[in-house]
Amino acid sequence: MKMLITGGAGFIGGNFIHYMIENHPKDYIICLDKLTYAGNLETLEPVMNKENFKFIKGDIADRSFIYKLFEEEKPDVVVNFAAESHVDRSISDPGVFLQTNIIGTGVLLDACRIYGIERFHQVSTDEVYGDLPLDRPDLMFTEETPIHASSPYSASKASADLLVLAYHRTYGLPVTVSRCSNNYGPYQFPEKLIPLMIANALNDKPLPVYGKGENVRDWLYVIDHCRAIDMIIRKGKAGEIYNIGGHNEKTNLEVVKTILRELGKSEDLIKFVADRPGHDKRYAIDPSKIRKELGWEPTTLFDEGIKLTIRWYLDNRKWWENIISGEYQDYYKKMYGNR
Ligand code: NAD
Repeated sequence: MKMLITGGAGFIGGNFIHYMIENHPKDYIICLDKLTYAGNLETLEPVMNKENFKFIKGDIADRSFIYKLFEEEKPDVVVNFAAESHVDRSISDPGVFLQTNIIGTGVLLDACRIYGIERFHQVSTDEVYGDLPLDRPDLMFTEETPIHASSPYSASKASADLLVLAYHRTYGLPVTVSRCSNNYGPYQFPEKLIPLMIANALNDKPLPVYGKGENVRDWLYVIDHCRAIDMIIRKGKAGEIYNIGGHNEKTNLEVVKTILRELGKSEDLIKFVADRPGHDKRYAIDPSKIRKELGWEPTTLFDEGIKLTIRWYLDNRKWWENIISGEYQDYYKKMYGNR
């Protein structure tokens, strides 16, 4: 199988590429990534020289480039991770979110329609469902929950999901969509909650927590997410949406305190800051469908996953210190020229 993985120099796409190379060595993987501030070729360093792997720099929203790529490479499967992914950035600058997340997905779908594909998989988020109240722990998002996005980020992801499903209905394109809860694990860009808190705690810098830290997220270890996507591509039914989540609900404050405890740092480092506008209160995924239909179960409990994650950031200081200092931008040119 020849697989085109977009956004593979980012957090989840990078972990997915490592997972695929390890678990499906007979498949051929092409990673397409624009290398925005969030893309980092150092994440792909361990697979760069593998015979069944190729990296191509490019933009999913560049129609002529994408058509040429499909014509030359003829992928069997496309997994679309490429996105602008940070809610705070979508609030300050929504335009690029519409361009990449909506237009880019549309261009990929057109290429699949024109050149043919066995499966197009869209990696989406539980944020398309909006949020749940804090005082109703019985409520969870199912695949039937109406779309009710809160931020420009989640609205752009919801728009992309609708396009993907419309291409199935209108053109019979064999698509699947997965909507996953918050991921954590190795290679996550240190602007997101868990790596930011680990990096700041290690540097004895204040840990900024929005509002009172009461917002609840449903945390999933990234490798459990990768395994779920792999199962959906191979066994999932075209035209279907699959929710992915680990029943690991935690308040942001609980997560931050766990990190401080694990690192032996004082809670005095916590600094409460003004809340994010429109901040979603609670996300909680009901993953019954993927469990019943595909037999997927999360295998990493939060207590174990957070230890693995902290260990990874301790062992790979260079990876995130380069990002923080901006050196990783020079790294690409030094290592790979203008490719
Ligand atoms: P990320 O920001 O770490 O990585 C995104 C990658 O996409 C980067 O490598 C970036 O260079 C690339 N990219 C951006 N614009 C591009 C373009 N126009 N063309 C080609 N490449 C481009 O994001 P992530 O956290 O790994 O998320 C991956 C996907 O999973 C996203 O679609 C996101 O919406 C979804 N998702 C993320 C989470 C989470 O907790 N991080 C949860 C559920 C779903």
